Amino acid sequence: MNIIAEEKVSLEKYNTFRIAVNADRFYKLTAASQLTELYNQQVFKSKFLVTGAGSNILYTKDFDGSIIKNEIQGISYRIAQQEVYVTAGAGIVWNDFVWYCINEGFSGIENMALIPGTVGASPIQNIGAYGTELMDIFDHCIAFNTVTGAFERFENADCAFSYRDSIFKTTYKGQYIITEVTFKLAINAAVNTSYGAIQQELVARGIERPTPKDVAEVVSSIRVNKLPDPSTIGNAGSFFKNPLISQAQFETLIQEFPQVIHYPMADGAQKIAAGWLIEQCGWKGKSLGPAGVWPNQALVLVNLNHATGSDIWNLSAQIISDVAAKFNIELEREVNIF
Ligand code: FAD
Ligand code: NAP
Repeated sequence: MNIIAEEKVSLEKYNTFRIAVNADRFYKLTAASQLTELYNQQVFKSKFLVTGAGSNILYTKDFDGSIIKNEIQGISYRIAQQEVYVTAGAGIVWNDFVWYCINEGFSGIENMALIPGTVGASPIQNIGAYGTELMDIFDHCIAFNTVTGAFERFENADCAFSYRDSIFKTTYKGQYIITEVTFKLAINAAVNTSYGAIQQELVARGIERPTPKDVAEVVSSIRVNKLPDPSTIGNAGSFFKNPLISQAQFETLIQEFPQVIHYPMADGAQKIAAGWLIEQCGWKGKSLGPAGVWPNQALVLVNLNHATGSDIWNLSAQIISDVAAKFNIELEREVNIF
């Protein structure tokens, strides 16, 4: 099917911060083969950006190039004994995919229920929640190389996955367009309920032997209560990453701030809860102009009232500066800025 550009399109409904900027050109991608068409039209020779649901993007100005909205669909799977390989089109809504897997009896993905966005964006920052990361279930993906025009296969080990990071966000930033992802899931495996508030909520519901469906429901309910719904208040989830600091830096920090919320990592580093740092600087529930800090989770910045991307950016810069002054820790933005 031929792919045609729309000109001067508002991106307000294509980003969950609801920032009202325009794009010069806008394409809806429904088949991987259309990428070859765009390549032949030299679209990738000038500025472009692929997007899914726009739930991890902050636009700070009009986009003077081509936005390619990925809407590629399709799911298939292959069972191999106690494992199943599920392949999903990059434009599928992530949560729809999670529920497809749960309803088919596939497990391993349930802790990541209700993360906004698309399947194709999930490897970019190695999405994660409640103790599961994408890298735990990612088998491989197919991605279009916008420099050479070739489709390439990336195995798990090729992606340099780490905490909220991958090769697609670093070395190959903006170069590849993921068209499909294959996940390796289990058939009726044990669930992981050790993280955050899951266990507490299961007990409250009287569930002793939780199924993957129970876990997905509990996670979804916790998320709905704690996080702002982007359909009513613009946001992009956690605006900052939780900082990882060395054991030496941690020892200095905890001497001055014994209450600091921290988690030891396998490599000896310490993960510090960024929400706690921001709260200690007095920002939780506060605002700067039309940009605010969510009262239930200080990691989340929100668009209170027709904020521009610059309003959100300025608030984030002020928070970074205050956290650095108080704790000597440099917060890093998780959201992609354009
Ligand atoms: P977009 O925002 O459209 O794009 C994000 C980046 O990925 C951009 O750089 C874009 O160019 C690139 N990209 C998108 N699609 C492709 C593709 N097909 N090929 C190549 N590059 C691509 N994240 C978590 O990890 N865990 C959470 O628990 C979580 N909770 C959230 C809660 C809320 C309320 C919100 C609003 C966001 C949350 N996020 C979370 C962030 C977000 O959901 C994820 O980053 C998600 O993967 C973004 O998907 P998207 O389709 O919206 O990507
Ligand atoms: P929370 O449960 O209040 O915990 C605060 C932070 O502590 C989390 O960010 C989490 O780090 C860490 N944490 C909690 N329990 C942990 C454990 N047992 N071991 C190691 N680290 C632990 O967090 P929340 O804000 O309600 O979010 C719950 C989950 O959803 C988290 O996994 C979070 O990452 C995810 N989430 C992500 C986004 C996003 O946009 N990226 C938005 C909302 C929620 P981790 O972040 O490393 O897990």
